[in-house]
Amino acid sequence: MQKSTAAEFKKALSKATNISIVTHWSPDGDAMGSSLGLYHYLKAKGKNVKVIVPNDYPNFLYWLPGNASVLNHQKNRKKVDDFVMKSDIVFTLDFNSFKRIEELGKVVENSPAIKILIDHHQQPDDYAALNFHDVNACSTCELVYEFIALMKDTKLVDKKIATCLYTGILTDTGSFRFPATTAKTHKIVAELIDRGADNSEIYNAIHDDNTVGRLKLLGYCLSEKMVVMEDIKTAYITLSEKEQDEFFYQKGDTEGVVNYPLSIKGIKFSAFFAERDGIIKTSFRSQGKFDVNLFARKHFSGGGHKNAAGGKSDESMAKAIENFLKVLPLYKKELSNNS
Ligand code: 5GP
Ligand code: MN
Repeated sequence: MQKSTAAEFKKALSKATNISIVTHWSPDGDAMGSSLGLYHYLKAKGKNVKVIVPNDYPNFLYWLPGNASVLNHQKNRKKVDDFVMKSDIVFTLDFNSFKRIEELGKVVENSPAIKILIDHHQQPDDYAALNFHDVNACSTCELVYEFIALMKDTKLVDKKIATCLYTGILTDTGSFRFPATTAKTHKIVAELIDRGADNSEIYNAIHDDNTVGRLKLLGYCLSEKMVVMEDIKTAYITLSEKEQDEFFYQKGDTEGVVNYPLSIKGIKFSAFFAERDGIIKTSFRSQGKFDVNLFARKHFSGGGHKNAAGGKSDESMAKAIENFLKVLPLYKKELSNNS
């Protein structure tokens, strides 16, 4: 997908008064960091801006600057719908298909606003009039920084913007370790630190915010629930709603659990299945060539990136695992050859 030009973005922005920024279902650090980073930038440009989320996000992101202004569609349906309908621009951040924003999708689709997509996930839909899409970007936050640079406005990047954008880069790169982390990422991060992002404080705010329940739940997942299949270089973890309740589950408590099995020597594919609101939410991670975006699209109505993707199953946990184990052998050769 071709990126739109600076002139095209400038033209759209110059005419806009009301701007919605919408991000995906179950927003993560990159979703919230990029949305709030862009929010502070557009406010500095004199726009009337609102960040809209389809549903709630984890507590460990509530400290982000601008958090109090975020509108949750599930809690403010009418207010959100009205603002989206009267917006001149709707930015859609960190996703690329209306399916990812559930009921909010219809509202955004029906709004006469110009849609601008800023995203780094694979295979975008083509609803947007203007695009700033790059699958090679480590995060949507990196793209928001590049967008501001394209607008020749990096002088407007203050501590608030820098803090939001640093947060999403930190979380989406797994603290700068995933392969999408490039020299360019580090140059942007250096700039963000120069402009006020406190790297140590942000890391603590994100990672040192565990409850006892969350840490014990992680321990339980690893010691009691992890199934390792060395012959196929795969490991998976399942978690029922009842098990989550036993550890006083709060939103976000299982984020990152899927990464742990990948740290086992030789494991190339990790899957996590959690019962949530009557469906099974799945997370997939891989190392190397095995493409979990394709796997999630094909078998679990999902998508994402080559090495990190998610999806869902409307069936029971037992059935979801049965399906998973049924299709897994199809990938045995690929996983075994995987470098
Ligand atoms: P996570 O496993 O952390 O929920 O998500 C991993 C990646 O896959 C994220 O980039 C996320 O946006 C994407 N993803 C998660 N769930 C879904 C889904 O149901 N559909 C699609 N298309 N992408 C998803
Ligand atoms: Mn992202």
